[in-house]
Amino acid sequence: MADYDYDLFVIGAGSGGVRAARVSAAYGAKVAIAEEHRVGGTCVIRGCVPKKLLVYGAHFAEDLRDARRFGWDVPADCAFDWVTLRDNVLADVDRLNKAYTATLDNHGVEIVHTRATVTGGNEVTLDDGRTVTARHILIATGARPMVPSCPGNEHGITSNEAFHLDALPHRILIAGAGYIANEFAGIFNAFGSKVTLINRTDVILRGYDESIRDRLLQISMTKGIDFRFNAEFRGIERQDDGSLSVAMTNHDPVVVDCVMFATGRLPNTEGLGLENAGIQVDDKGAIPVDEDSRTTCPSIHAVGDVTNRVQLTPVAIREGQAFADTVFGNKPTRVDYGCIPSAVFSDPPMAGVGMTEGEAKNKLGSVKVYLSDFRPMKNVLANRNERALYKMVCDGDTGRVVGLHMIGPEAPEILQAAAVAVKAGLTKDAFDQTVALHPSMAEELVLMR
Ligand code: FAD
Repeated sequence: MADYDYDLFVIGAGSGGVRAARVSAAYGAKVAIAEEHRVGGTCVIRGCVPKKLLVYGAHFAEDLRDARRFGWDVPADCAFDWVTLRDNVLADVDRLNKAYTATLDNHGVEIVHTRATVTGGNEVTLDDGRTVTARHILIATGARPMVPSCPGNEHGITSNEAFHLDALPHRILIAGAGYIANEFAGIFNAFGSKVTLINRTDVILRGYDESIRDRLLQISMTKGIDFRFNAEFRGIERQDDGSLSVAMTNHDPVVVDCVMFATGRLPNTEGLGLENAGIQVDDKGAIPVDEDSRTTCPSIHAVGDVTNRVQLTPVAIREGQAFADTVFGNKPTRVDYGCIPSAVFSDPPMAGVGMTEGEAKNKLGSVKVYLSDFRPMKNVLANRNERALYKMVCDGDTGRVVGLHMIGPEAPEILQAAAVAVKAGLTKDAFDQTVALHPSMAEELVLMR
């Protein structure tokens, strides 16, 4: 048997890579992990975690206003300081970065703080020129923001930079209509920025249930977010006063202080040397893998966003865990991609699991849909005319709940628990047999008629 420097070399210390490295090491493997930016990866450093903290920060705007209706004396000039929030969030990111690093250290994983590229089926070359060998290589390099090619695109930022802004932009244009675009639109709007969201097509959040995304669009417009559809970038020009003039198709130009691209994410495979191991990426630049996350090169696996299966942290973590269990734990494991819950931390948030109504109709034919369209009691007292919408999609023949979609306060928290029932294949009857927990918003799930 060939002698290698490591049993496993992981490229990328994000959600998938860290989990795979630490679990493999716990199984007794000699493991190294290379990271070119910061240990923790997108989720911890510039994704889910800092984003959710900004969402919490943004929500105070509404809470403080509502608080007056609940008897609290909130001063009218209640001011928000972006720099305080930004620095506190970044400090928490530092704390998590240290915690992730400590976890790897404690498991005896060697961390190499440099870029790594593949130079053979069992060989990795580091940016310092060193070459190391490994019995297994795991590629967990994640994805990066896609920036559309248009004149002046260098004036724009992406979500990576949004967490580091020196000041809150008075006017911001966000390009894109996926979850990152809608989340940041809600965040900046709550902080008082004038938000314009532009999108190439005329739908937001493609792939989510239509009624739920329509409700988000309607509420977002009521909150003052300006949507421009069928608008494609023509160019961005910096004006003498530092502002940016954005030209687009079908609409007048908009002048803003900041342009943010949230136009999709590209798998990080560029310059990774995959050709040295005979691996070809697909048309999106992603690494094709089989059910065991194995690439066409038997000694190289890939997990997480770089494979473009489901670009979510818990999925990358499961793939990393399944890899370690299978390759080093003698416990062959495959990830089950059915019924993965997901959320959009927009304002208000939405969440869903399983088939949308449209998907269910196409797939099952006979479908029964239950809706609860209600104004949460907190919104009623707050004089907030904002309604929540829950939708349960059932198989018309068996009554099995095949999809659950919701928008409203705490929707992601409620949906996570309800997703267990959907994943378990429970029927509408099983929901009905459960006594309501009153008063709550979640009780609507067992009261749908
Ligand atoms: P990453 O976590 O991206 O890790 C890859 C690591 O590899 C990076 O640290 C990178 O620096 C490193 N790397 C790349 N190339 C090399 C190389 N050649 N050598 C060395 N190191 C390299 N998901 C959710 O589930 N919920 C959310 O709410 C959510 N919000 C998000 C918000 C934003 C703004 C963004 C951008 C993403 C969000 N995501 C969310 C997605 C989530 O962050 C990713 O799905 C997850 O991080 C993928 O994990 P990964 O291990 O595949 O890659």
